[in-house]
Amino acid sequence: MEKRIAVIKGDGIGPEIVDEAMLTLEKIGEKYGHRFIFTEVLMGGIAIDETGVPLPDETIKVCKNSDSVLLGAVGGPKWDNMKGNLRPEAGLLKIRSELGLFANLRPAKLFSALANSCPLKNAEKNAPDLLIVRELIGGAYFGKRETFVKDNIKTAYDTMSYSDYEIERIVKVAFDMARKRRGKVCSVDKANVLDSSRLWREIAHKISAESPDIEYSDMFVDNCAMQLVHNPAQFDVIVTENLFGDILSDEASMISGSLGMLPSASLSGTSLGLYEPVHGSAPDIAGTGKANPLATILSAAMMLRYSFDMQKEADSIEKAVEETLGKGFRTADIMSDGMTELSCKEMGEKVRENIK
Ligand code: NAD
Repeated sequence: MEKRIAVIKGDGIGPEIVDEAMLTLEKIGEKYGHRFIFTEVLMGGIAIDETGVPLPDETIKVCKNSDSVLLGAVGGPKWDNMKGNLRPEAGLLKIRSELGLFANLRPAKLFSALANSCPLKNAEKNAPDLLIVRELIGGAYFGKRETFVKDNIKTAYDTMSYSDYEIERIVKVAFDMARKRRGKVCSVDKANVLDSSRLWREIAHKISAESPDIEYSDMFVDNCAMQLVHNPAQFDVIVTENLFGDILSDEASMISGSLGMLPSASLSGTSLGLYEPVHGSAPDIAGTGKANPLATILSAAMMLRYSFDMQKEADSIEKAVEETLGKGFRTADIMSDGMTELSCKEMGEKVRENIK
């Protein structure tokens, strides 16, 4: 298969970690007979320096014409004092809306070799491996809002509003993801209190009725927050609205123990997606070789799984990461006694050696 990938290395550690992910994809291409064609484009601080804007039109065009987008991270102290729409992060928000990325996918998986970094007791005995599918462009973060003073009382409100089609498209993404995983979806809402959640539940039930191959359940968000700590291994795919997903995905991310291990994907409903680590550009360690490339390498694995439907290729990367950690190799952020510390480049090389 031949796939065109737009590559945005970005700022700080971005170029170092993305290089390792690209080399890993090339290794997968050699092993499984695929051709990945990379086109590098600018976004973030480096784009501001070279073109005057954080997201040049050329970048949008190349991304839209690609099969997928791989992103490092953007931002850094050099651009911190720029005006809102000229900051590196403005590029990130704009590319998400230009590509219509309404579904954010954040896996939370405990690699057994890193069990000590997980704050949950005995987590390795029943290792959690779940995926949170969060609605990304609706709900309270995008609804009507106002702050006003009336009769000497200051009031503020935000509106959490969802339409049937917005719920339907994100819930369908969750069901599709479950088909590529262990076949279970838990829809999280607050239907005992909120009208928008009651509509959410109605639509989710309709899709569940059309999908007998998927084991479906509902859960209230307060219970879900508790269950993620009590027994996270019960979950396969969790689907929820924007605000609940923001909070639950950060809670669940603690399972893996380190920011440097967390991949993510944002999808548009077509096969085009944007894949990036959850962390930022880590300017404090840029250029020192201390960056952990695993979140970006695992983001590339998600690209193979969710955009290109290359399941065994994605498994191959994830297994190689597991094996590399199992053999005691670590970057500085996940280092512990008795382990071997590697640089960013060396860690990438070890993962590629373990792709068999
Ligand atoms: P950060 O995630 O960049 O760093 C937080 C801490 O985690 C730092 O100590 C850093 O060294 C460490 N860290 C992060 N990724 C790591 C990795 N792969 N390996 C080892 N250690 C790692 O968050 P921050 O310091 O708050 O932000 C730095 C810059 O990144 C800011 O300009 C911010 O706006 C930007 N940012 C960008 C994105 C993005 O591009 N998606 C996301 C978050 C922050």
